[in-house]
Amino acid sequence: MPAVVNAMTVDVEDYFHVSAFDRVLSRDDWPAQESRVEANTERLLALLAEHRVRATCFVLGWVAERWPGLVKSIAAGGHEVASHGYWHRLVYTQTPDQFREDLRRARAVIENASGIRVRGYRAPSFSITAKSLWALDVLAEEGYDYDASIFPIRHDRYGLPSAPRHIFRVHCGTRDLVEVPGSTVRVAGVKVPMAGGGYFRLLPYAWTRWGIARLNRVERQPAVFYLHPWEIDPDQPRLAANALGRFRHYRNLHRTEGRLRRLLEEFRFAPLGEVLPTQPPSAVLERAPAAAVA
Ligand SMILES: [Zn+2]
Repeated sequence: MPAVVNAMTVDVEDYFHVSAFDRVLSRDDWPAQESRVEANTERLLALLAEHRVRATCFVLGWVAERWPGLVKSIAAGGHEVASHGYWHRLVYTQTPDQFREDLRRARAVIENASGIRVRGYRAPSFSITAKSLWALDVLAEEGYDYDASIFPIRHDRYGLPSAPRHIFRVHCGTRDLVEVPGSTVRVAGVKVPMAGGGYFRLLPYAWTRWGIARLNRVERQPAVFYLHPWEIDPDQPRLAANALGRFRHYRNLHRTEGRLRRLLEEFRFAPLGEVLPTQPPSAVLERAPAAAVA
């Protein structure tokens, strides 16, 4: 059987956009920070190109507005350009109208810079949860084809533990949305996260490798790997945060690049837009009763 092709995704944002720093840095402070997103993203793209891997890049609107050339270069590299919203605000802290406005602002600047229609969205910190399922309706209404914002686990900032583990379809009124949940493996009946971000950086590489191999070979499902450009930048300026935030953000930054090289050698990857058509939905859910997903 041919190897399953996994999805490679990158959330294109700077180190100071991360939700853990929301309390120490206001959005007004952002322009004064030393920006490293352009250099880090270019380095990450070069690394992917070395392994002939193309990705889906969920670009933050705030970044696309300031570095349109970066968005252009992502598109020129054959990567899929998608949206990470404009202000990196957690979805469940916004009203549906605020969310829609943020989505539209991000889309306008990203499409302007890339010349490509944005089809996909990932919320900051996977913040579509039981409290913000209405966001799926807004995304469908705004013409998005897929969303990658639900993590079917328990976590202090995100998670919808009862959501399906594999790609599923959601009926939102007159339009459908494909939902691409964060990757998990089932261990002793519990869904355990893997394949990206802190789970890739904080835990040994062997965990990710075992998880993706299991997903691919036993379940014949793609993993959805995700990474941020700042995760390959051990020299980024240090910001104050609580101990947990600091641990999650700074630990093993110097190890990420080497691990990523290994990962790219050991598994196959493609952008989400190419993986989704090969993947029949594992479930079809009706949005109307929130209980269907929650
Ligand atoms: Zn983010």
